Amino acid sequence: MKRSIYADNAATTQLDIDAFEAMKPYMLQEFGNPSQKYAFSRPTRKAIQNARTTIANCIGAQSEEIFFTSGGTESDNWAIKSRKKDEYIITSAFEHHAVLNSCIAFEHNGGTVKYITPTKDGIITSEALEAAIEGNVGLISIMLANNELGTIQPIKELSQISRKHGILFHTDAVQAVGHIPIDVNALGIDMLSASAHKFHGPRGVGFLYIRSGTHAVPFIDGGGQENGYRAGTENVPAIVGMAVALKKSCDGIDQFTTHLNTLEDILLSDLTTAKINFIRNGGANTLPGLISLSFPEKDGEAIMHRLDLLGIAVSTGSACNSRDTEVSHVLRAIKLDSDIAKGTIRISFGRNNAIQDAHEIAEALTKVLL
Ligand code: PLP
Repeated sequence: MKRSIYADNAATTQLDIDAFEAMKPYMLQEFGNPSQKYAFSRPTRKAIQNARTTIANCIGAQSEEIFFTSGGTESDNWAIKSRKKDEYIITSAFEHHAVLNSCIAFEHNGGTVKYITPTKDGIITSEALEAAIEGNVGLISIMLANNELGTIQPIKELSQISRKHGILFHTDAVQAVGHIPIDVNALGIDMLSASAHKFHGPRGVGFLYIRSGTHAVPFIDGGGQENGYRAGTENVPAIVGMAVALKKSCDGIDQFTTHLNTLEDILLSDLTTAKINFIRNGGANTLPGLISLSFPEKDGEAIMHRLDLLGIAVSTGSACNSRDTEVSHVLRAIKLDSDIAKGTIRISFGRNNAIQDAHEIAEALTKVLL
């Protein structure tokens, strides 16, 4: 059988085996509703409490600052839609649609949103943010790392500006959590969105970090779970799996980063040796393993399909955009020439990729492009 290579880890990752094993008892034996006060529910109550503490420790937060959600999309919706309509929100033009479409909904409700344009290298600069601040700005929301380019934002500088003006600072850290070290206090973050399936946890679970003392609005009304902010019976197995996956990712960050950097170097040097004409997008400071490559005058969509036929899964843009044949809003935001933008693919290695995968992808690309 033909070997297949999965290199779209920015879209989703394989569930970690230890996370899976940790989830199993909560799917079968330990099924008590955590809200019930009897002894039968004690294990699930305890499991949620432990998961909250583990997750908080991974990002330098307090456990009561972690609110479980159904994933990155919900966390982003919550952060954005909590604002009052007489406030302004400042965000960037190349956020994920979970943020952008929440901002559009906020505008439909009478709110005002300002969209900052990134530089060609995919950076939101302090100067651009400072220039955008005027009027009653209630929230600044800038992603920690871009999902198509991998570019890591200067979050500490941006949050300092936010704090100087007394504005709340939210970051969509869905691509970054578990991949680069994050300390919410050192980075000056007031709210942070994360999603388990991006760091080898289960799909359909995530969290929103909300700094203590931050004015937050309950997002889902009901039975009072998550301290009355996000009601609904907890998905205990998923929460447990997320905590195990995050701790493993964070504990292994140095080792995984070294491996992912090696895979990147191999791929790029093999392409160079094969004399392939390519441009790497996203500047110098990108997430380990995430590579946005443009092949001038080629068609990214066609490259993706031809690689697929060779058993290799990569993306043309963000997963949610992959049926859209137009140039993505991210590539438009960095003003990539449209002939170059059309020939763009995203390769995102994960810790489960082998060295051989990088060589084989370069070889397949060479076959497809020459
Ligand atoms: N934000 C970013 C930057 C993402 O990359 C994604 C998913 O691709 C999301 C939000 C949405 O997260 P989820 O799939 O958990 O809803």
